[in-house]
Amino acid sequence: MNYKQSLLLLFAGLAIGIATHAQTRKTENLIIVGWDGVRWQEIFTGVDSSIMNDRAYTKRSSAMRAEFWDNDPAVRRKKLLPFFWGTLSQQGQLYGNRALGNKVDVANRFHVTLPGFTETLIGFADSTMNGNVSVPEKNTNVLEFINNQPAYKGKVAVFATSKLYDNILNVKRSGLMINCDSEEVARPGAAFSLLNEEQRLSPQLFGERLDLVTYFQAKEYLKEYSPRVMYINFSETDNYGHAGSYDWYISTLHGQERLIADLWNYIQSIPQYKDKTTLLISNDHGRGGTKDHWTQHGPQPAESKEIFVLAIGPDMPAVGEMGNDQQLYQGQIAATLAKFLGLDYVAEHPVMPVINTLFKK
Ligand SMILES: [Zn+2]
Repeated sequence: MNYKQSLLLLFAGLAIGIATHAQTRKTENLIIVGWDGVRWQEIFTGVDSSIMNDRAYTKRSSAMRAEFWDNDPAVRRKKLLPFFWGTLSQQGQLYGNRALGNKVDVANRFHVTLPGFTETLIGFADSTMNGNVSVPEKNTNVLEFINNQPAYKGKVAVFATSKLYDNILNVKRSGLMINCDSEEVARPGAAFSLLNEEQRLSPQLFGERLDLVTYFQAKEYLKEYSPRVMYINFSETDNYGHAGSYDWYISTLHGQERLIADLWNYIQSIPQYKDKTTLLISNDHGRGGTKDHWTQHGPQPAESKEIFVLAIGPDMPAVGEMGNDQQLYQGQIAATLAKFLGLDYVAEHPVMPVINTLFKK
């Protein structure tokens, strides 16, 4: 074969590659949930008896035991998180059960919120970050990258409880549609005005609006404006963790998993989203792994770096809980999100590799 022939073959191969890729990939929409300070321990083993039985952390341990306890961790986790251990485990994948050797870590050294969600969205651990000090992020992020593609322009929306997102996503530069903290949704319609009123009048338990308000604003936006990509952030799990209330942490975890299930079931009822949407859920950091440290996170306790990734969608092998020895990093999520949409995330900064096991061969 001469040079010209081999070049022709190469181009033919590339064309086939592209066509096959476009043909086999079914994801057209993405939903991402950034869940603050949830421990992988509860995701994979359900409620922790040592924390549940300590009155310093759990005031209503008998009620918690009655609702969520079982000696078998597989039954226990399903009582706490029925959607994850039902639908999602049957149709998706769950990464981060360290008891099985499946590990997901944050790559940054801080193990707090701002660097965590930043790493998730820019796609690497920026060593120049200064912990939770919030300034407009200089590195571009994957949501901005997607929003800059003609097919997705103006079709990426962010609803966050945390006020950090305007800076994480550098709203001034990125021009992304971001609704966070106590910003009202300036859109017409009775539903938005009721939600705005609810936001104004409901208590701000932790100096931010309630996650429930964030959720229903996002759901209403989805209903009315059909974004292709939606990012939702919940904060209360972290706040109840810091408050040392295992009762509230567990009931919030359970209640918000129900919101995630509600969102999944809702999109499966809409033709634009049904069987064409991938949902990915992850946290910004973990927390301490023992009874005396579970309320904390940061460079110490060391287990704060341990996170999880859960996903469900039409393009992944439905293998459920990942039991293989594997080491993944938070920064890999960004390029993975782009790949679901058939895009190759490139930026002016390093980008960690795609999580390939989330895709059918
Ligand atoms: Zn925290």
